[in-house]
Amino acid sequence: MRIYIEGLQDERFQRPLEHIANLFFEESEVALGEEAPADLAIVLGYEREENGVKASGAIKDTDITAEYAKNIDPKLTEKEAFKQVKNTVSYVFLSMLQEHTGIIQKWGILTGVRPTKLLHKKLESGMPKEEAHAELKRDYLIHDEKIELMQNIIDRQLKAVPDLYELGQEVSIYIGIPFCPTKCAYCTFPAYAIRGQAGRVGSFLWGLHYEMQKIGEWLKENDVSITTVYFGGGTPTSITAEEMDLLYEEMHRSFPDVKNIREVTVEAGRPDTITEEKLAVLKKWNIDRISINPQSYENETLKAIGRHHTVEETIEKYHLSRNAGMSNINMDLIIGLPGEGVKEFRHSLSETEKLMPESLTVHTLSFKRASEMTKNRHKYKVADREEIVAMMDDAVSWTKQHGYHPYYLYRQKNILGNLENIGYSLPGQESIYNIMIMEEKQTIIGIGCGAASKFVDPRSGKITHFSNPKDPKTYNDRFEHYTNEKIRYLSELFQKDGSQQE
Ligand code: SF4
Repeated sequence: MRIYIEGLQDERFQRPLEHIANLFFEESEVALGEEAPADLAIVLGYEREENGVKASGAIKDTDITAEYAKNIDPKLTEKEAFKQVKNTVSYVFLSMLQEHTGIIQKWGILTGVRPTKLLHKKLESGMPKEEAHAELKRDYLIHDEKIELMQNIIDRQLKAVPDLYELGQEVSIYIGIPFCPTKCAYCTFPAYAIRGQAGRVGSFLWGLHYEMQKIGEWLKENDVSITTVYFGGGTPTSITAEEMDLLYEEMHRSFPDVKNIREVTVEAGRPDTITEEKLAVLKKWNIDRISINPQSYENETLKAIGRHHTVEETIEKYHLSRNAGMSNINMDLIIGLPGEGVKEFRHSLSETEKLMPESLTVHTLSFKRASEMTKNRHKYKVADREEIVAMMDDAVSWTKQHGYHPYYLYRQKNILGNLENIGYSLPGQESIYNIMIMEEKQTIIGIGCGAASKFVDPRSGKITHFSNPKDPKTYNDRFEHYTNEKIRYLSELFQKDGSQQE
């Protein structure tokens, strides 16, 4: 869908308007300024007034028009004020597209990944709940249902981590192990099929141990505690039991005060990587929170998306893990996998009922640019918007009936039906790491391949991103450089004399 917009020249509107258009149409393209052939032509403009902005628009060849005015606090910086202008123009654009298509967007103009952050920010500043909710509704057109969801999630998070707003002086650690038995079709994570890679795995682990030692040393020297550790990837249980054992031993030797870390999680996502021996290693190091991801309980689907394990294997490995003492198991399901509709998803829920993992994460399929699935999209038949919404509704009512509560959520671009991914858990079983990564209240140090670090300034909340290389070869060549860079960031942020950089 190509949309031509007359009246706006400023390129800074391009992306926000395109994100909104994508909520309504697949692969939209927005052209600003010069007249171009398009499926939809829109006139859109705004006027800056002394203390506010007024935007208006019309869809050509229809009688659809919209306008919206908003006050702008004169104390805002120019950048912040322009954000308000963008929101006002987006408001008008969204209102017109809703009328044109008949599709109502319950998240309003919000297209970002972490909607709960917006509400956290208002509440943390001391704004009463009712006022915060009213602002979300008025300024962003968010529906009551989504506001209630956000508030429920925030209430859960603060119950699980009562000191959430004070954890800026601690850090969490993400350790990325970029290997999997095979590569899934929808995957854009750094994940390399492990078979035949023994040499490369060995050199990668060498670098990883080095990073753990150096970062641990810095944390100890600077008296910075660790809140949570998360082993992800890839599939961190793709490596051998001996390699896992050495890694956890390194964690205990290098990291400060490991016995007081609130949570250590190991993704064992692919059931085909779980063995009795590896579970014994996890138990030996007191790691009992793992993730086993069925994604679907249909063998045909698993085959189509390249997971190379069966439903029976997921169930078998789940029981094996339970018997080996894993007391906090998360399972992931994906709504909208190729060939799946309400019937298949209900089947997945009824199978989940037999297992009752401590937490259940329900993702909605997203077509990420780099995945095999997106490149060959024509080969995959996926459910339509209504069916996706029906499956999500099933997930909401099933989790409610079975005692699960939502405790984090994130959205993605190009997500089917403009829905969200929601993490549910039984009371008291929330993953603290997931809350940390979503709400961005503390620094997360990414170690290993493809690991993204987020340095959150404990005073200003300003976030700086830094990524380790995704492919093992580059990582193996340059891990020392990446370690030094992270230590440099950490030293700037956590200076003890109170002179942290802004
Ligand atoms: S198991 Fe997970 S990380 Fe590995 S290829 Fe599949 S989706 Fe990607």
